Amino acid sequence: MKFGGTSVADAASISRVAGIIGDYRKTGHELAVVVSAQRGVTDQLIEISTKLADAGETTMIDPFIGSLRDRHVRAVRGAAPAFAPEVEAKVEELLRNLTGILNAVHHLRELTPRSKDYIITFGERLNAPVVSAALRQNGIQSEVLDGCEAGIVTTPQHGEAMALPACDSLIRSRVGPLIARAVPVIMGFMGCTESGVVTTLGRSGSDYSAAIIGSGIDADEIWIWTDVDGIMTSDPRLIPDARVLPSVSYIEVMELSYFGAKVMHPRSIEPAMRKGIMVRVKNTFNPDHPGTEIARVAERDSRGVKGITYIDKVAAVSVNGAQMIGRPGVARAIFSALAEKEVNVMMISQASSEANISLIIEEGQLDCAIEALTGMVRQGIVREVSANRDVCAVAVVGEGMAGAIGTGGRIFTALGKGGVNVMMISQGSSEHNISFVVRQEDGPKAVRILHDEFRLSEEA
Ligand code: ADP
Ligand code: ASP
Ligand code: MG
Repeated sequence: MKFGGTSVADAASISRVAGIIGDYRKTGHELAVVVSAQRGVTDQLIEISTKLADAGETTMIDPFIGSLRDRHVRAVRGAAPAFAPEVEAKVEELLRNLTGILNAVHHLRELTPRSKDYIITFGERLNAPVVSAALRQNGIQSEVLDGCEAGIVTTPQHGEAMALPACDSLIRSRVGPLIARAVPVIMGFMGCTESGVVTTLGRSGSDYSAAIIGSGIDADEIWIWTDVDGIMTSDPRLIPDARVLPSVSYIEVMELSYFGAKVMHPRSIEPAMRKGIMVRVKNTFNPDHPGTEIARVAERDSRGVKGITYIDKVAAVSVNGAQMIGRPGVARAIFSALAEKEVNVMMISQASSEANISLIIEEGQLDCAIEALTGMVRQGIVREVSANRDVCAVAVVGEGMAGAIGTGGRIFTALGKGGVNVMMISQGSSEHNISFVVRQEDGPKAVRILHDEFRLSEEA
C-alpha cells in the first residue's frame, strides 16, 4: 500500500492511515507500506535548495528547518504520542544533517543533480518514522526502511532514475522476511545506484516505488491510496464532473499518465504489468469506495474512449526542408542527434511529402533539442528548424478505440465546431491513443469539448 502526500499530510491523516492499515491487517492480510513526503514538503525542498544555489541568503535556512520541525513534531505528537520522544530525536538528527547540506549548497553556490536528489529525499526521510510510529501506537509492529535499504537499486539518472532488474531479488530478500513480523514502512521516491549513491525516481515517484516493491515481494495486489476516489475520466480540477473509472487496463493508465494525468507516475504500471499484479487506486478519505481496478484486461466501454488528458509543459519542434524528401536516414539522423542530447520525444508526426517532421518534447528540453538540430542545418541535412512553446498536447485514450470506426472523425469534428485549431495529430497503430496538439490556451477547452462529446460524465 502506498500513501501519497495528502494522505499523510498531518497527524489526523496519519492516524487515519494507521486505522486503514490496522483494519486491513485484521482481515488476515500481510502488507508493506510505502510513504511519500507530507504534502508540499518536496516542493519546498526543491525551492529552497534552488534559491540557495542562486542568490539566496543563509538566513532562509533556519526558518525553513523550523517549519519542518514544527510540522513533523506536531504530526508525531498527535498520531503517536507514546513514541514522540524517540521520533523527535530522529527528526532532530535529520534536520541537523539537512541544515549542514543546505549551508554547503549556499557556500558552494552549486546544486548538482546528485546533491539535489539527496536533499529532496528528506521529505520522505522525515515522514516515514512518523507513519511507522503511528502504526506502533495502534498496536501494529512496524519498521522503517529507506528506499535503498529496501532494495531499490536504480540507474544513475538523477531526478529520473529507473529501477534495475536486480531490485526483485534484493527486495525479496530484504522486505520479504520482514513482512511476517512487522509492517515495513518504506520511504518512497528514492533509491540508490549500485554503488550506493542516492537517486530519486521523478516527481510523484512514490507510486513507482510502490510498484517496484509490490513486484519484488510478489504482492497479490498493489494499492495506491490518494485523495480522490480513483482514476477519473479527466483531471477533476479541470473537469469538475469527471467520473471515477471502475476498471482500466495497464495500457490505458500508461497512456493517461504519460500524457499528464497526474494521478500516477507514468512508470509505475510497468513493474506491476510485468508480473500481472492488480493495481487498485483508492481514496484515503473515502476508503469504502471501491476505487479503480487496473489489470491487464479492463471492462470495455461502448464509447471506446475512457479518458482525456493534457500536458502543457511541452514544446513543438518542426524540422523542414525539401532535401528531406525520399532521402533515407533523415529520421535516423534527427532522432540520433536528439538522443545524444538525452532529449525525450513524446510525439512524432510526419506528412507523406516527407518535407517536414514535427516533434513534441518536454519544454525544459527545448534548448538542447534546438542545439542538436541546428547542427543538422549546418550539415545541410535539413533546411530549417523552428520551435513553438505556446502549445499543449491532448490525448484521448481507450483500448476500445481500436477498430472503432469514426472516433477520429468525432474528435476533430467536435473540436472544429468548438473553434479549436489542431496543429498536429498523432495516432499509434495500436489505436489506444489519439493525441493532438493545440495552442496552449486551447488545451483546457479541448478537453472539455471532448469530455462532453463522448459523454464521459455518464455511467457506462
Ligand atoms: P498523491 O499525493 O496521493 O500521490 P497526487 O496529487 O500526486 O496525489 O495525485 C492525485 C491528484 O491527481 C488528484 O487529487 C487529482 O487532482 C489529480 N488528477 C489528475 N488527473 C487525474 C485523473 N485522470 N484521475 C484522478 N486524479 C487526477
Ligand atoms: N514526494 C515526492 C514528490 O512530491 C514523491 C511523491 O510524492 O510521490 O514528488
Ligand atoms: Mg502522486
